[in-house]
Amino acid sequence: MEVDGVDVLMLSVGSDLPYFCGYEAMPLERITMLVVPREGDATLVIPGLERARVHERPEIFSVAPWGETEDPIAKIADLAGAADTVAIGDHMWAGFLVDLTNQMPNTSFCRASSITSPIRQVKDAEEIARLREAGAAVDRIATRLQRGEIPLVGQTEAAVSAELGRQILEEGHDRVNFAIVAAGENAASPHHHAGERVIRAGEPVLCDFGGTMIGDDGIGYCSDITRNIWTDDRPDREYLEAYAVLHEAQAAAVRAATVGTPCQDVDRAARQRIVDAGFGSYFVHRTGHGIGVEAHEDPYIVEGNTQPLAHGNAFSVEPGIYIEGKWGMRLEDIVAAADDGPDPLNRADHHLAVIG
Ligand code: ZN
Ligand code: ZN
Ligand code: ZN
Repeated sequence: MEVDGVDVLMLSVGSDLPYFCGYEAMPLERITMLVVPREGDATLVIPGLERARVHERPEIFSVAPWGETEDPIAKIADLAGAADTVAIGDHMWAGFLVDLTNQMPNTSFCRASSITSPIRQVKDAEEIARLREAGAAVDRIATRLQRGEIPLVGQTEAAVSAELGRQILEEGHDRVNFAIVAAGENAASPHHHAGERVIRAGEPVLCDFGGTMIGDDGIGYCSDITRNIWTDDRPDREYLEAYAVLHEAQAAAVRAATVGTPCQDVDRAARQRIVDAGFGSYFVHRTGHGIGVEAHEDPYIVEGNTQPLAHGNAFSVEPGIYIEGKWGMRLEDIVAAADDGPDPLNRADHHLAVIG
């Protein structure tokens, strides 16, 4: 905060608050705000009725509940004092920020992520262990999909998505973040919403799913994996050829993800192979995103991000090839950068699963 010239850090709805104090703010019209002055003690301003949910940690913060007829904005402004610069949570509701700027007309606001993201991006050994545990849980589900143990043919995408969600919870997650199931031509849309489309024999199915495992400390870590299944034993030749390219591109990017390598070089490692094979224009997104307490966070594995990978960074490596009207494919693992080389946190088989 001193380096960035930030006088007060304010954290509310979003992942910064649980990351730093183990409490997750309810996304409510009643405001919650951790006020952290550069010097001095942190205070959690919280709706009085939520106080019972706070695991109090007086060594980190004190709790200041506000009653239903009090003005919490005035209370927060008061705690901030005459701050010139406040860094405020990126996911805080705009409405509250408008109220705060009216209450604090001489204060300039910047994004809290300038302070919090460099801290959150570097995971310690315990955080990597928790990401690995979440990764192993979705690996088990992916393996069942690949063995044909989760019925696909004759099911709707939505039914398979619901089943994946059920298994995500059964495997120890506390929250399902997404379960994309996209069959045939639907897989050409990277974030396809699983619908009533019935899965047929003889087509590809893309499954991309993950959740959050919350520890006793109230902090949750995310999983995220994508695998592809062909629903009979006669995969289309064009699809198979593209899949071989994708498989090699994904593995090349994982190998490139060493400490000190700029993020964009990991993207380039995957993209170059896909471009060389003539599918460049069909790889329509960046190669990956950081992951931790949020499913998408820094660092982003994208052209233009010259930030070198550091020991403890965790991120997805998920190139894809999408041909509109035909099919799509994506292969995704979470990888941690470590001093002794890339550390994949997903181990489920990377080949195209051919079932039936
Ligand atoms: Zn995505
Ligand atoms: Zn994913
Ligand atoms: Zn992802």
